[in-house]
Formats: sequence, structure tokens, C-alpha cells
Amino acid sequence: MIAQLIFLLFTIAAVVLFTINVRKIIRNINLGRPLNRSDRKAERLMVMLKVAFGQTKMTKKPVAAILHFFVYVGFIIINLEVLEIIIDGLFGTHRIFAAPLGGIYSFLIGSFEILAALVLVGVIAFYARRNFIRLKRFTGVEMTSWPKSDANYILIIETLLMAAFLIMNAADYRLQQLGSLHYIEAGAFPISGLIAPYLPSSESALIMIERSCWWFHILGILAFLNYLPYSKHFHILLAFPNTYYSNLEPKGEFSNMASVSNEVKAMLDPSYTPEPIAEGGKFGAKDINDLSWKSLMEAYTCTECGRCTSACPANMTGKLLSPRKIMMDTRDRMEEVGKNIDKHGKDFKDDKSLLGNYISQEEIWACTTCNACTEACPVNIDPLSIIMELRRFSVMEESQAPASLNAMLGNVENNGAPWKYSPADRLNWAETK
Ligand code: SF4
Ligand code: SF4
Repeated sequence: MIAQLIFLLFTIAAVVLFTINVRKIIRNINLGRPLNRSDRKAERLMVMLKVAFGQTKMTKKPVAAILHFFVYVGFIIINLEVLEIIIDGLFGTHRIFAAPLGGIYSFLIGSFEILAALVLVGVIAFYARRNFIRLKRFTGVEMTSWPKSDANYILIIETLLMAAFLIMNAADYRLQQLGSLHYIEAGAFPISGLIAPYLPSSESALIMIERSCWWFHILGILAFLNYLPYSKHFHILLAFPNTYYSNLEPKGEFSNMASVSNEVKAMLDPSYTPEPIAEGGKFGAKDINDLSWKSLMEAYTCTECGRCTSACPANMTGKLLSPRKIMMDTRDRMEEVGKNIDKHGKDFKDDKSLLGNYISQEEIWACTTCNACTEACPVNIDPLSIIMELRRFSVMEESQAPASLNAMLGNVENNGAPWKYSPADRLNWAETK
């Protein structure tokens, strides 16, 4: 009874804490500007099924795709087994589904074990890739100590959870063979059956191992749940809404700014009624509040995989720009603003902004607007839209642009074309001598 109560308290505390932190993330995302992505629902659903469920964009790197698939499927399916653990924990039962499901239960446990072994293969390979092979895309100025540790913590936690699951089953299997009270026969244990011979033979030691692993496994899962909101691993939840709300327009098509369109249309047609402006009275973006909620959601969805940065021509040629850093900076700034709100109230303003304190002019102007980053991202994140909003602010609010661009903009203003020739001389090139 005491064990059941402790279990209940831990479960309630974990769910409450997780809910509080998720609500903060939703609040932070809602700090962004409105953007209507409620159209074309069927198309959106297909994109989500293809990109998030189907992991189709991962396949460009097949080895990583297979390993990630093990971890993704394994983790989702094995967590079905958590349902049984929770029921057992709350009601003091043991393997409550074994008797009613019979042969199906044996099949499920066998599948879970094989998947757990594949997850172990996946996470160990991922750990080696990051720490021993040192893949280039996991390096970069933005990959400071926390992002590196975060990635390693996740891999270590997943390894421990899967190991605890298999050792728990191995001890259970031995106890079943000994005919121990409560440990009813629950079918085949294809992986843990191989570990079982290495465990002690005394019943009390086996019960201790089984119970310790059981508690470690479930408390580890509850702790992991609460680690998610602080980690890039939150993508396992946000990848689905993020892909659903993807930009469905052709890549490279820039949105018109209503504030600018209104002025141009009003100049051309004095009877024109201006469209309502949802841009907060500012051209472009200086801080996270000026970006759309979708860009902010993307910042929380970023897995820091670096596929965008490794495809970025500016980064490849040694420029300061890294699209992954753009996403990570946006998330860091959002977290900072969120903490300020928690501490000082929603009207508090610090003297910082995304542009300037996190992202520099040099970075945004290094972008070629090629969209390779958006194309490479496995969860349809669009770093370019943030870069473009920051540029719009720089040019239209602060008249800050590289000298070469300023010359071109001056020419457009004076000559109606990017070149420094008078409109009257435009056809000089066609003159024959
Ligand atoms: S759009 Fe800009 S940030 Fe993205 S890959 Fe191209 S140059 Fe890099
Ligand atoms: S933006 Fe996409 S590709 Fe780039 S690091 Fe984040 S998840 Fe990876």
C-alpha cells in the first residue's frame, strides 16, 4: 500500500510539473505575432504524416535514418508498456495484462525486447558519432557545452532506461522459472532471456533486482518527461504540430508586408481601402515578439542536428552564419523573455533584443536566401524566414545594410533600377555604331 501511495505521488508530481512547463512553452510561443495557418487541412495532415510520422526527410542520410528509426519506433512502442507499469504501480498488481492477453502478451513482450535492443544499438551509435567520431555537423560556435551535454544526457538516459527494462525482464524471467509468488509465466523473453543466466540465483536477490529496475525504469521515464521541456528532445512532441503548420507555399516565395503593400496600393489608387495590418506597427523583426508564433514554435522544435548548417553555402564558405544558431538563439532569447515575464510580469522589458544581443548583422547579411537550410531540415523548420524578418527590420527601421546593398537601394530609389545609370540611358546598350 505504501509503495502504491509513493508511486501515485510521484506520478501526480511528474504530470503536474510537466504540465506547468509545457504551459510556459505555449505561453512563450504565443508571444509571437499572429499568422494564419488554419487552411488546407488535408494537405497539412499529409505533410505531418509524411515528414513527422514517416520521417521521410531523414532518409537523405540513410545510416542516421535507420538508427533514428530504431530509437523513434522503439521508444514509442516500448512506452505502451509504461501503461501496464502505471496500472501495476497504482493497483499493486504485477503484469496485469499477461493473463487477459495470453499469447498476444508474449508476442508484445518479445517485440518490446527486440525494439529495446535496437534502441540500445541506435543510442550507442549516436553517442559514438558525437563523442568519438566527432561528426563535423555536431560542432560549431553554437554547440557550446550545454547543447553538447544535453545531447549526451539524453543518450545516456535512454541507454539506462532500456538497460533497466531488459534487466528487469531478465530477473522476472528467472523468478517465473523459480515459480516465485506473483511472478506469473508471461511468455518468451528473447533478449532478457540471454541476460538471465548471468543474474544471481537466490530468489530474494532476483526480487530486489526486479523491483529496483522496475522503480528505476518508471521513475526514469517520469524524470525524462520533465527533462523534455528543457531539452532539444522536446522535438519528439513538437515535430508533429510543427510539420502540420508547415509553410505550404513554394520555397523562396516571400510574403508581402501588408504595411508596405498598403502604401504602394494607396499611391496607385487613392480610393484603395488599406488591409488590416497584423505586424505590430513595425517593419520586420527586432525581437522575438516581432516574429510569428510559427517561427517561435520552430525554435522549440529544432533538434540541433546541424543538417541545415551543413547544407548552408554561407557556412560552407567560412561565413559567420549558421542557420542552426539562428534557431538556437531564437529559443534562448524566448526563454530569457519568458523568465523575465515569470519574474517581473508581462510588461517587463529588458534592454536586449534578438537582433544585436544574439544574432549579429554580419550573420543575417551572410545569407544567400537559397533555402538549402529549409530543404535540409528533417522537421520543416525555416530559419530563412527569421533571417528575412531581421533584415527587413535592419533595412526599413534602422537603414542598416551592407554598403553594396545601400548603393543598389539608392539606385532603385533614384533611377528605378539597380544600376547607377539614368533611366534615359537604359537603351544605350542597344545602340550600334
Ligand atoms: S537560406 Fe541562408 S541560412 Fe539558409 S542555407 Fe541558404 S544561405 Fe544558409
Ligand atoms: S533547423 Fe532543422 S536542420 Fe537545422 S538544426 Fe534545427 S532541426 Fe536540424
